[in-house]
Amino acid sequence: DVSSEPRRTTKETHPHLPPGLILDENGKVCKVCNTWQDFAKIGKKKQSTSSQDNNAQGSGSKVKGLGGMAGFASLLQNSSSSSASTSTQQATINASPVPQTEAEPDRTNCPPDTAALGRSTWTFLHTTASYYPQKPTETQQSKMISLLDSLSTFYPCSWCAKDFQKDMKVNPPEVKTRDDFVKWLCERHNTVNRKLGKPVFECSLGKLDGRWKDGPED
Ligand code: FAD
Repeated sequence: DVSSEPRRTTKETHPHLPPGLILDENGKVCKVCNTWQDFAKIGKKKQSTSSQDNNAQGSGSKVKGLGGMAGFASLLQNSSSSSASTSTQQATINASPVPQTEAEPDRTNCPPDTAALGRSTWTFLHTTASYYPQKPTETQQSKMISLLDSLSTFYPCSWCAKDFQKDMKVNPPEVKTRDDFVKWLCERHNTVNRKLGKPVFECSLGKLDGRWKDGPED
């Protein structure tokens, strides 16, 4: 079992921010360690604290330490207001018994949150493993180990990276054959899935190749 790296989060040290946001090594809220849903809480907290501040001090109070995330959060906030631009539409929405769902903002060109970065990285890793040689040379094996070492050094969500490093120490990369490697990687991904309370994936070659190489059988 691989224990999780302790994370520093916003608490009483950041009274203007909601508790539980993960901080980076410099004590700032870490964009690639939190999700868009976490950022949205900042917008809500910002709105409530600024109205409190305005009541106490008049206008012009400012939330400090967001590192640009108030803008991300306001993207979410703004998206919810765009569906009701006229008072007639607003009245219709208010009268509706069906709960309204907020339109998802287009985040195509936004910096990645932890989920987008994770999905892209797993896609790269599982696809690369699927096309790894069945009989790799010594050089190919050592280059793959270097790639994994480098990834766990530079992965921008630093506490994710530290947990991944720990997991790789306990379970060193198995890169002698393609089949070994795809299964090993599946287990590493499952370690993260368990940590996050997500379902685990069945690490059989049939399932893995179906997902990452061949597609489902027709
Ligand atoms: P993902 O977990 O990103 O999976 C993408 C797809 O892969 C799934 O839809 C499924 O089809 C397939 N899949 C799922 N499990 C497996 C498997 N075992 N083998 C093969 N295919 C599979 N996030 C955190 O919040 N905390 C962390 O500590 C953390 N550590 C990470 C470490 C690494 C090295 C990486 C690459 C990512 C990490 N993440 C972490 C991100 C996290 O794993 C997810 O990528 C993110 O939460 C988005 O999850 P998702 O549900 O979209 O699917």
